[in-house]
Amino acid sequence: MLYEISEKTMKLESEGKKIIKLNLGDPDQPTPNEIIEAAYESMKQGKTKYSSSAGENKLREKLANLHKVSVDNVVITTGSKWAIFSLMFLLLKKGRNVVIPTPYWTAYELTAKSLRAETRFLRTEIGSEWKIDVEKLEDLIDRKTRLIILNNPNNPTSKVIDEKTLDEIVQVANDKGITILSDEVYSDISFVETKSVLDYGNDHILVKSFSKTFAMTGWRVGYAVVEKELVEKMMKLNQITLTNVPVFVQEAALKALELREEIANRIREEYRRRADLACSILSETKVKFSKPDAPFYLFPKYEGLDSERFTFDLLDEGVAITPGTAFGNYREHFRIALTVPEEEIELGLKKICEVLE
Ligand code: PMP
Repeated sequence: MLYEISEKTMKLESEGKKIIKLNLGDPDQPTPNEIIEAAYESMKQGKTKYSSSAGENKLREKLANLHKVSVDNVVITTGSKWAIFSLMFLLLKKGRNVVIPTPYWTAYELTAKSLRAETRFLRTEIGSEWKIDVEKLEDLIDRKTRLIILNNPNNPTSKVIDEKTLDEIVQVANDKGITILSDEVYSDISFVETKSVLDYGNDHILVKSFSKTFAMTGWRVGYAVVEKELVEKMMKLNQITLTNVPVFVQEAALKALELREEIANRIREEYRRRADLACSILSETKVKFSKPDAPFYLFPKYEGLDSERFTFDLLDEGVAITPGTAFGNYREHFRIALTVPEEEIELGLKKICEVLE
């Protein structure tokens, strides 16, 4: 559904219809100029050739320093999506299962399905502020469980896993010898402190991206921090598929890291304003929502709603959102992405309230 709505929205736009796009996790801000300049300089210097399938050393070293790991533990990927796909592809061998809290980012489920891996979902609810019940998580694990996927902060709820819960999850995973794949693509722009899976040592996997923090979605650059053997396997997979992330893109990513704090602060504050605005509009309605801990999303609930039908009705009115069913069994929920300017958020939310009435 996530990708279906996105295609339909693009089609309507190409026919000249104006759509307020609250459906995509694609920031409206342009990529900062310094990053674009760094790519251009790199291209002018001839960095337009094939290169290492593990990534450029300079970028890997910078990331290794940032995460206090060795350069051998870092692999650069075409967006974090490829890192996630590669890791699931490599680790979910036949008969193994993966535990995923819901609501989840759609691609985890679609990837597992495409690999014919068994998925075990751990439901969380708005009523308990989307908290993960660690006992229930433990019950889902068996001898065949290979991975637990955590998304912290979460898309679509924008909730951060509190420290105590994360401590407990890591303890369970360690006791049972299961790897956590922690997707932390929103952590650098989170409104609240987040703890990384790497804060617990190097037994688990971190996946991150340049897309969200630096408004670089279309550049396709992300990375994973994993054990050396897995870096080698991911590198081999890159060799037979995409070869390498373009070197000029990696040099732009290096520039982005140099400016990380300044850019992340700017993006975070912009989204904090947008989230405050959206919450204040929604608090006047019957829609239930929980206050986001991070950009970019709200995942409200409206009692009795069929969010798929609602999404299509709303699209006819010129507003795109994503139905809750794209993130698991959440028909009464819908996801609003705050990736448009404040005026459009205001107009879009007003339209949502009108159509709901
Ligand atoms: N993880 C999550 C939770 C996401 O929301 C997204 C993009 N929407 C990604 C990973 C993938 O981002 P990218 O491939 O651009 O790094």
